This record gives sequence, structure tokens and C-alpha cells, in this order.
Amino acid sequence: MSKWHLIIDVALCHNCNNCFIACKDEHVGNDYPGYAAAQPLHGHSWIKIEQTERGRAPMVDAAFLPTMCNQCADAPCVDAGGGAVQQREDGIVVIDPEKARGNKDIVASCPYGAIWWNEELQLPQKWIFDAHLLDRGWAEPRCAQVCPTGAITALKSGDDDMARRAGAEKLAVLSPEFNTRPRIYYRNLHRFTHHFIGGNVLTQNDGALDCLAGATVRLLRDGAPVGEAVTDAFGEFKIDGLEGGDEEYLLRLTHEDHEDLEQPVRLKQSVFLDDLQPKRR
Ligand code: SF4
Ligand code: SF4
Repeated sequence: MSKWHLIIDVALCHNCNNCFIACKDEHVGNDYPGYAAAQPLHGHSWIKIEQTERGRAPMVDAAFLPTMCNQCADAPCVDAGGGAVQQREDGIVVIDPEKARGNKDIVASCPYGAIWWNEELQLPQKWIFDAHLLDRGWAEPRCAQVCPTGAITALKSGDDDMARRAGAEKLAVLSPEFNTRPRIYYRNLHRFTHHFIGGNVLTQNDGALDCLAGATVRLLRDGAPVGEAVTDAFGEFKIDGLEGGDEEYLLRLTHEDHEDLEQPVRLKQSVFLDDLQPKRR
């Protein structure tokens, strides 16, 4: 049977928080017996937008990451719930608001921190993919409906088809090392998880410094190519999706009118290299 999935494009999220607000609007003060008890007004973020910044001026990249329950196919919360947490046939994981009462262990069972504790009701709670609306015929959850940039797409798909699509379209899940098989996929997740090397390239032109367009920048790690870019009209380049963690890279710059230039780069976090200047031949 096909299951519900989300594809979230990190590059399209502008941090407007409409999805967060729609979830609040849907659940604060509203009980949905069998699905979820009311969400408290404060303290819970069943949909939460994380943020990060990479680089520095003039090459800064801010990225926003909508997070929520991943509707995992192998969900530890189901195992911890003792019958109070169910995975439905359509893949949506629901915490029964009656059976789960008082069971705080369910909160700790989620490696993603996607379950919130409702102190007043003594209940573990989370985003339920708006299962109560889908069961009434809605075509998508409210977060997808209200997103003004189209960053969130909801779809039903078999797990194998979804895995093939993920491979073909370079989709990724959060923290795959948890081995829970999330059904929330991300496009452009490298904007949040990886780093870039950028810079600008200058040249002497009749005694004045000028931008050097059309220079090829290649990046190598342990002698193997890992990225390539060509400088634009401003002499700028950016190679993204790189592993950080103090990795050592070699940057090799070539241009037909200039001598090759090589520079080692140690990458902990995204960097911008100022004013690379290859010599004219
Ligand atoms: S509604 Fe869309 S653009 Fe706005 S925060 Fe949510 S995912 Fe991002
Ligand atoms: S993200 Fe957490 S709460 Fe959601 S299904 Fe996975 S383990 Fe359960």
C-alpha cells in the first residue's frame, strides 16, 4: 500500500513560519479524539523551523529547515508506546491521546526530538501529518497547503518507488544513522548539513585590479576531484556540498592567460577566499 511522504525543498523555505502557524491553528484548543488532544498554546513546536548560516560577507548563505515527526517506517516510538503509538496503513504514526496518557518514556524514544510533553494533559504529542484531515478527504496536510513558496510537497507513494525517486532526485533524510527510515525527505539538504568553498579571483589589467571571469576552479581531496566551478563576471566561484570536519582540500585554479595557481584549504566550516590572484603569463 502506498504511504504518505513529504518532500521539503530547503532552498525554497524562507522561514515565513506559515507551516508552524497552520499547525498551531489546527491543534491549539482543538481536540481530535483518536488522533490528538489539543496542543498547548505555548511550549510546543510540532513543526519547527531550524536555521543556519554559512560563509561570510560577501558570500553568505542562510538556510531554513522545516522539521517535524518523520513518520518513520521503523519508528522507535511505536516500540516504546506499548500499543499507545500506532503506524497506520498509510504510514502515518499516531500517538493515541488516551492510551499514551502518563507515558513520558514515549518522548525520550524519538531520536529526532519530535515528541513534546504536554504537562497539563500528561500526554506525549507530535505532528500527525494531519491524518484527521486526510481521513476527511483532504489532498494534503495544512503545512503543504499554506506554504507560499511550494517548499513542501505531500505525496503518496510505495516505499520502493520513493527510495528510487530519492536516488534519482538526490533527496535525503535527516540523520540516516538513526536507521528509522524516515518518510520526510529533503531536497538541497546540503544547504544545512554541508559546507562550501567560495572566493573571488582578480587579475592585473593595465595596472588596475579587475575581476577574472572564466577561470576554472577545481577542488581535490586526496588527489581526487570533488568539485569544479567557473568564475563569473565578478570573478566569483562557489563549490558546495563539501564535507567539513577539518578536511584538507587542494584548490587548483586555471585560466588560459594565467599561470596555474594552487592553494590548500582546510575546511571546518564554509569559507570565502579573498582576492586569489594568478600571475599573467
Ligand atoms: S510555510 Fe514554507 S516557506 Fe514558510 S517556513 Fe514553512 S516551509 Fe518554509
Ligand atoms: S520521528 Fe520520532 S515520533 Fe516521529 S515516527 Fe520517528 S521516532 Fe516516532
